[in-house]
Amino acid sequence: MRIVLVGPPGAGKGTQAAYLAENLSIPHISTGDLFRANISQGTELGLKAKAYMDAGDLVPDEVTIGMARDRMEQPDAEHGFLLDGFPRNVSQAEALDAMLKAEDMTLDAVLDLEVPEDEVVKRIAGRRICRNDSSHVFHVTYSPAKSEGVCDVCGGELYQRDDDSEETVRKRLEVYHTQTEPIIDYYKAQGLVVTISALGKVTEVTQRAMEALKKSDRD
Ligand code: AMP
Repeated sequence: MRIVLVGPPGAGKGTQAAYLAENLSIPHISTGDLFRANISQGTELGLKAKAYMDAGDLVPDEVTIGMARDRMEQPDAEHGFLLDGFPRNVSQAEALDAMLKAEDMTLDAVLDLEVPEDEVVKRIAGRRICRNDSSHVFHVTYSPAKSEGVCDVCGGELYQRDDDSEETVRKRLEVYHTQTEPIIDYYKAQGLVVTISALGKVTEVTQRAMEALKKSDRD
């Protein structure tokens, strides 16, 4: 399956993507994670991306689309993938369509995670992520690690993302509304959008998502 995950920052895209990708046996491709890996390795691409990310802006398409394409061309993505955080504007969606069309492929579904705005701010402010694996996500109130600052899964150090400050979150939400939300209409016109609520326990949301994807596969 080829799936795109959309939703505002804090909707739980990364967390859900990790579970869904495992359930569906497809790679989880997160452009945010790819940028963060480049930043920690000190690559030129990482240097270019960091200032935009810290400001809560989108990294320019010239950088982003090529990086996403390179990742999608890896052998593990041959039979499908779950895209998390890409595309994030209509021109990226058009570029993705062109890439898929060139290979005679199509998307199967666009999973839209809905969550109220006040909940988003609460979720992000308390979010803590493992340095070893960004799919190990905790929250100081909602799902605290057993030992503060230490990942329950692998013992890695937990940290707060630079762009999870309240000011940057507000900017990221604005960018989401103005630039990313229009892709939902773009994909609705292709009949691909499945919307689910992202409220509730992580496992409940994963189950809801799996059911919605199965249903969309049958339709
Ligand atoms: P994420 O981990 O998906 O929340 O992404 C973190 C940040 O990385 C975003 O706020 C953007 O600055 C940048 N980013 C991730 N994906 C994209 C994309 N598809 N286009 C542009 N910038 C992106």
